Amino acid sequence: MPSDLIVHRPEGLYCPPGDFYIDPWRPVERAVVTHAHSDHARMGSAHYLAHRDSEGTLRNRLGADIDLQTLAYGETIDHHGVRVSLHPAGHVLGSAQVRVEHGGQVWVASGDYKLEDDGTCPPFEPVRCHTFITESTFGLPIYRWPAQPALFADINAWWAANAAAGKASVLYAYAFGKAQRLLHGVDAGIGPIVVHGAVEPLNAVYRAAGVALPPTVRVTDPGVTKAELRRALVLAPPSAAGTPWLKRFGEHSDAFASGWMLVRGARRRRGVDRGFVMSDHADWPSLQKAIAGTGAERIIVTHGSTEVMVRWLCEQGLDAQVFATEYGSDDNEDGSGADPEATAAP
Ligand SMILES: [Zn+2]
Ligand SMILES: [Zn+2]
Repeated sequence: MPSDLIVHRPEGLYCPPGDFYIDPWRPVERAVVTHAHSDHARMGSAHYLAHRDSEGTLRNRLGADIDLQTLAYGETIDHHGVRVSLHPAGHVLGSAQVRVEHGGQVWVASGDYKLEDDGTCPPFEPVRCHTFITESTFGLPIYRWPAQPALFADINAWWAANAAAGKASVLYAYAFGKAQRLLHGVDAGIGPIVVHGAVEPLNAVYRAAGVALPPTVRVTDPGVTKAELRRALVLAPPSAAGTPWLKRFGEHSDAFASGWMLVRGARRRRGVDRGFVMSDHADWPSLQKAIAGTGAERIIVTHGSTEVMVRWLCEQGLDAQVFATEYGSDDNEDGSGADPEATAAP
């Protein structure tokens, strides 16, 4: 029986032969970071390793002077005889699954992931392994996302109808990941796109990485007229709701984009006119597909609906267990990069 390549420690997920952590929730000597959402990327570690497209957001959030080594997808490094490589997770820009190989064993820690290609980061890539560590944020059979063309048709129709009625369309979405995916997917021909100050720095990081986003303006930019604002799509973090910033748009329609919008009552509790079901996490069928695609016989579930997922996996004849983690516990809703959905329960 080979010993486990990744174990649970009070600081986070730990690789004993490599002497490093993956997404530790406490400061450690060496941290491999799957992505820059704040529940996975935490301050205070001595050395960081991440995908090169995470560099901008990590330095922005953890400090410009962090000791950070970056890798391209598929590039391999050797650390104490452990082969480490990063593979696309399709979650947000720079998001990666961590593949760890030692003594003939391969383990993959997924971080957060989704399967549908949204055009703002390389799509999820299944990686064969003996043990797969998976999230389960939306690990309940009720969670099934609409196809993206249908989702964006709905958002475009809502925006166009508001614009025709002379009302701004205020769409709340988390500033890192969700906002850029919306920008990339909407029909920018409908009207101008105004973004909140928390969103624009992240747009800049995406554009610098070569992701095509339509032009955006700040409400304070010279030349932005009242007439234009009445036709605009306004992208803002949820924390902007109820703030004086919104007064500039006058009478407007508002909406919220999140996977939780699938749950009855979630839109009403948010107090918005519309809810669009959009998530950067895998839905139930995608979680099953991703897990099957790894060929792993042992599955470790880290966060979300862990009990339901473990029970389902055991029924499929797999060896499944839970690691109690602190992912999804840092959703401060300030739009600066907290995991969009992990704790934003309806
Ligand atoms: Zn997460
Ligand atoms: Zn995340």
